[in-house]
Amino acid sequence: MTFSQSVKSEIIRSVRNTRHCCAKSFLTAVLKSAGSLSIGHGGFGYSIESDNTEFLALCQTLSREYFDAYAEIVASNLSAKGTAIYSCEFDGSVGDKLGLTSRDGDGTLIFSDTTSLLPQSDCCKRAFMQGLFTAIGSVVIPQNEGLRSDDTAKYHLELRFADSAFAEAVQRAYPLAEFRSMARKSHTVLYIKESERIADFLVYVNAVNAKLKLENIIITRSVRNAANRQRNCTVANIDKTLDASAKQQKAIALLRRKGLFDGLPDSLKEIAIFREQNPEATLDEVATALGISKSGANHRFAKLIELSETD
Ligand SMILES: [Zn+2]
Repeated sequence: MTFSQSVKSEIIRSVRNTRHCCAKSFLTAVLKSAGSLSIGHGGFGYSIESDNTEFLALCQTLSREYFDAYAEIVASNLSAKGTAIYSCEFDGSVGDKLGLTSRDGDGTLIFSDTTSLLPQSDCCKRAFMQGLFTAIGSVVIPQNEGLRSDDTAKYHLELRFADSAFAEAVQRAYPLAEFRSMARKSHTVLYIKESERIADFLVYVNAVNAKLKLENIIITRSVRNAANRQRNCTVANIDKTLDASAKQQKAIALLRRKGLFDGLPDSLKEIAIFREQNPEATLDEVATALGISKSGANHRFAKLIELSETD
């Protein structure tokens, strides 16, 4: 099961025995974002297609039990990837019962204004977002086991809307989610990239287990990134120390070859001999061993190198 599927599964379980007002919000969000309207027996009717039968079964149950509106799941076709797609076909009355549609005096169908569909109460706002995510949402997170430990691996949550005005209304209605918006082909996509924002979203839609999984990954990655930074830093410092030491040893050897060593001042001879005996000592360790400052040690090494280069 993908991470997206597990989030949806959690949402579906939490919506199953919801309040009447929230069942209405959930179904409204689903049909408004993913429903298509077609003429069937008994006039216009909504239908939704999905490969997620658990989701379709929930929609069917909500429609039947909360709105006394018949709904039927039928095999539809195969997706491009060969997955079986099913369709849930709703009774023609469901649009009116949810407030998606109404009739004028002649019985002509009128579609409700997008913003009037967005619920006001907190419980229903949550149910509406649960419906949107289940119908048109997806989320990907980096895999814990992945070898890549850099920060470029993606966290990405999105809702994909066919109706851009609806997408804008949703973006405005949920300021705390901090959705960003982009156009993709003929769709408008609201998305979140920040891992902490995604975690907040998962809590909001009651996908608590998914949120825990995500948090584990965030923590594991941040610990590993910190460890990597520390290791890279240590390795760089060791390289620097050995580099410097190699230069110093070369200079000392050169001074000996040129017969200049014995004529050096004692302070230089002392540090040169220490370096010959301790090739891996850091500047700090050299300074401490000789009872001088780090800059003093640095200065003496620089002097040795300078002298070794004179003829
Ligand atoms: Zn409610």
